[in-house]
Amino acid sequence: MNFTFERWTATKSAELYGVDDWGAGYFKVDDAGDLMVMPYPGETGSAVRIRDIVDGIKERGLDMPVLLRIENILNSRISDLNDSFLSAIADLDYKGSFVGAYPIKVNQQEQVVEKITQFGSKYHHGLEAGSKAELIAAMAMLRDKEAPLICNGYKDEEFIDLGLYASKIGLFCILVVEMPSEIPLIIARAKALNARPVLGIRIKLTSQAGGHWSDSGGDRSIFGLNATQIVEMVDLLKQEDMLDCLQLVHYHLGSQISNIRDIRIAVNEACRVFAGIYNEGANLRFLDLGGGLAVDYDGSQSNYLSSRNYSLNEYCVDIVEGVMTTLDEAGIPHPDIITESGRSLVAYYSMLLFNVLDVTRFRTDSITEPLPAGCHPQIRYMHEAMTGLTFRNVQECFNDILFYREELRNLFNHGKISLRERSLAEQIFWATMTEISKKAKEIKNVAPEIEDIDRALADIYYCNFSVFQSLPDAWAIEQLFPVMPIHRLDEHPDRSAILADITCDCDGKIDRFIDSHGFRRYLPVHTLKDSEEYYLGVFLVGAYQETLGDLHNLLGDTNVVTVRLLANGEFEYVNEQEGDTVSDMLSYVAYDTKRLMTRFRETAEKAVRQGLISASERREIKQAYEAGMRGYTYFER
Ligand SMILES: *Cc1c(COP(=O)(O)O)cnc(C)c1O
Repeated sequence: MNFTFERWTATKSAELYGVDDWGAGYFKVDDAGDLMVMPYPGETGSAVRIRDIVDGIKERGLDMPVLLRIENILNSRISDLNDSFLSAIADLDYKGSFVGAYPIKVNQQEQVVEKITQFGSKYHHGLEAGSKAELIAAMAMLRDKEAPLICNGYKDEEFIDLGLYASKIGLFCILVVEMPSEIPLIIARAKALNARPVLGIRIKLTSQAGGHWSDSGGDRSIFGLNATQIVEMVDLLKQEDMLDCLQLVHYHLGSQISNIRDIRIAVNEACRVFAGIYNEGANLRFLDLGGGLAVDYDGSQSNYLSSRNYSLNEYCVDIVEGVMTTLDEAGIPHPDIITESGRSLVAYYSMLLFNVLDVTRFRTDSITEPLPAGCHPQIRYMHEAMTGLTFRNVQECFNDILFYREELRNLFNHGKISLRERSLAEQIFWATMTEISKKAKEIKNVAPEIEDIDRALADIYYCNFSVFQSLPDAWAIEQLFPVMPIHRLDEHPDRSAILADITCDCDGKIDRFIDSHGFRRYLPVHTLKDSEEYYLGVFLVGAYQETLGDLHNLLGDTNVVTVRLLANGEFEYVNEQEGDTVSDMLSYVAYDTKRLMTRFRETAEKAVRQGLISASERREIKQAYEAGMRGYTYFER
C-alpha cells in the first residue's frame, strides 16, 4: 500500500511554539512530548519534566494556578550577566570593574531579593531602591559591604536620613540626586548627622529609545538633571566642600530597550557628561547605566518591542567599548561600570502554570441532516449558500452568509423566528465558515477578511487564572509572553484557541501570541480529554508581573512554589507560599471577615425561624460559607 502518513512529533511542537528561540537554553521539548526545564542553558542531563513538578505540587495539596520559580535559573542569570561584563572588561583591557545592582521594583518579593543577594554575593551584586520601603527592605537584606546599595527615587528627609544611616553602619550606600531640590536637603542632613555621603547624580539624556518605557529618557523625562542643573549642583557641592562626595553618574533609558543602537548612543552621551563633571573636579568613580537590558520574549531576535536585536555578550562589549572610547578620548580614567538590570535577571525564572477548565467551540462539522419542514425562507437561503459552496465562489458565499446571518438576527429580534430556528441558523453559519476556511487554505489570493476567519473560528479555552492578577502587562501594554502546553507535545495540536481567564471580564483574555513575524491571533492547542487535566504555561513572567497585578474580581495572589533542580535530573521543593484566601482578599478591600460571618449566621438563623431551612441544614451551610472564606480564590476541582 502506498500510503504515507506524516506523524506529528515533539520536535514539530518545539518549532511551532518557538521553545528554542525564546527559551535561552532553559527549556526544551523531549521526545515523549513533555516540556522540560534545565538549571543552566543546555544542561540536558539535569532536565526536569515540568509535568512532574506539577504532579508533586498537587500531591502536596496546592491547586492551580501556580507560579513556579526555578531557583537555578536566577542563579544562572546573575552569573551570566556578571561573567559577561567581566570577560568583556578583560578582553578589552578596560581598567575599571563591573558590579550589578538589582532594582527591587522589578520583583520585590522577599524570597526573590534574598536569593539575589545570596547568588550575587560572589560578584558583590547589590540592590537598587527607588523608595523608602524598598530602601528599608534593602538595608536589612544586603549584608555585603562591598555590594552597592543605590538609592534612586524622589527623596524626603526620612529617605535621606535612612541612606545616611546605611552608610554609617558600613553599607556601601549611594544617594543619587534625582531632583535639584534634594541637594540642599542632603547637604543639611549630612551635616546634622555628621555623615559623609557618597553621592550620585541622575542625568537627563537627550538620546531617546523607542519602546513602551521610553519616556524615562529624553528631554521630557521626569527624573534627572539637565546640563544647567548639573552645573548648579556642582557649584553648590564645591561651595560646601563636598564635591569629592560626588562619585557616581547615573542614567536610566527605560526598560526593555530593543535596539542596541539606542543603548550605544546613550552610553556615548552619558560619557560626555561624565567627562564634563569629572573635569569640574568631582571624584567620579562609577558610571551607572541603569536598566534596559531586554528580554527576547518572542524569540525573534529583532528590534520588535517584545524582543531585542543583541545578545548579552554584545550588550556588555558594546558598553565597555563605548565607555572606553569616549573617556580615552577625553583623557579620563575608566570608572567602574554599574548596571541596574532587573528584567533580564528575573524574567526567566518564573512561569505561570494553570489548567484549562472548559471550552467554547465555533468550528463546526458540516450539517448533513435536512432542514425541518416549514423552516423560515431565510434559513433555507442560508442553507443553500452552504451547500452551494465551491472553490470558485468562496468570496460570494462568504458575503451571502454574513448577509443572511444579519437578516436572521433581525428576524429574531422582531419575534419572527424562534430560538430553535436561530440556533439552527447559527449552526449553519459556523459550519459554512469552517468550510470556507478549509477551502481558502487551498486557493491563492484570498481576501484578508477571509484569511481572518480563522481568528473568528478559534476556540475559547477557559483557563484557571486571572490576567489582571498574574499577567498585568499582557493586559495593560499588550506585552507578549510565550504561552504553550507543557505536555502532549508529541500529539498534533489540532485546535486553535484564544485563552480566557476566569474573571469574565472581556479584557480578561490572551489573544495575541508570540510569532517570529510579529504576533499571531490564536494559539495551537490540543483537544481536551475528559479524563485528564490540560496544563498550559506562560513563561518569562518573573519581571514586573507579580506586584503590578490588581484584585480584579477579588482573585488574589496565586500559590507560589520554588524548586531547585539537582545535577542528577532530580529536584526538590525548597519553598511554597500559599496564595491569598478569600478572607485575605476581603480584608484588602476593608471587609471585617468576622463581621461578615456574624451577619451571615444571623441571616441563616432567620431562615431557620422562617422554616426555609432546618437547623442542621443551617450548620451545613454555615460550614460551607466558612470553608469558602478560608479557601483559594481560584477554581478548585
Ligand atoms: C525600572 C528601573 C530599572 C530596571 O530596568 P530593567 O529594564 O528591568 O532592567 C533600573 N533602574 C531604574 C532607575 C529603574 O527605574
